[in-house]
Parts: sequence; C-alpha cells; structure tokens
Amino acid sequence: MTITQSSRAWTVTISSLSGLPMLSCSACPVPAPVGSAVVRAVRRHLVHHLMECQVPEHLRTCQCRDRSCVWHRRQGPCAGRLRLVLIRADGGRTWHLADSFDACAAAIPHCATVPEPPLRIAATPGAEAPVVADLAEEPLEWFEAQW
Ligand SMILES: [Zn+2]
Ligand SMILES: [Zn+2]
Ligand SMILES: [Zn+2]
Repeated sequence: MTITQSSRAWTVTISSLSGLPMLSCSACPVPAPVGSAVVRAVRRHLVHHLMECQVPEHLRTCQCRDRSCVWHRRQGPCAGRLRLVLIRADGGRTWHLADSFDACAAAIPHCATVPEPPLRIAATPGAEAPVVADLAEEPLEWFEAQW
C-alpha cells in the first residue's frame, strides 16, 4: 500500500449483498466478500492495516476528536493516555480500530483496549505472526460506557 497515513483509524463495515457478506473498509478501494467467520475476518483485516501503518508514536493522537467525537455521546475532555481500541458499533456491523485516549475510550460503548503490536514485526503475507493472531482474538474485556 502506497498511501501515506497520518493517523491510525480504520473502519470496517459488514454489509450483505444478496445474502453474501461483504466487508467494506475505509482504507480499501473495493468491498471484499468474506466467508462465514465474518467477525474474525474483520479483526484480521483491521490488524493487517495496523501492521502496515507506520505512524510514529509521537504523531499519534486521539482519533475520536478527528471524528467530532461521534463515537461517544458524552462530551468530555479528549485527554488521557493513548490506547489502541477496538470499537464494535452498529450491533456488530461496524468496527473501528483506532488510537483513542483512555478518557474517550471509557465513554465509547462496546469499546475494548487491544494490545499494541510490538515494533518491527513485518506483516509477511501468508505467514501469520503470533501477534496478529492475538489481536484477531476476542479481546478479554469489553467495557461499557458509563453514561
Ligand atoms: Zn482495508
Ligand atoms: Zn472524543
Ligand atoms: Zn478523544
């Protein structure tokens, strides 16, 4: 991928085209069909972008503010420690993987903190690094927003 990205945020939407699940991604030009393990495919897809993304740590910032804080309804200070979060929205049809401050993450429904992949793990096509498998698993904790 040659697109230079300045932020870490991806959105994948699952749609259904005549019964066939399709995966649309904010970073990919065309929707792709997915098999039966849709949610797993979504996570793998998001992780794939994460691994390709080279935004240095000092340039990362909370992505919810970039999106006018639409992920969380309660307005609060966009502050705290930066985390990598996985957000399940729209009853599981929309997924976001993004950088977010912990104060924001706590206000986002169906949001889970996921581990940051270690530096310099190349995304090798075909070979599945353990970290990719880890991130593609169900996160241990989904925290619900406190309204
Ligand atoms: Zn994509
Ligand atoms: Zn926000
Ligand atoms: Zn924020």
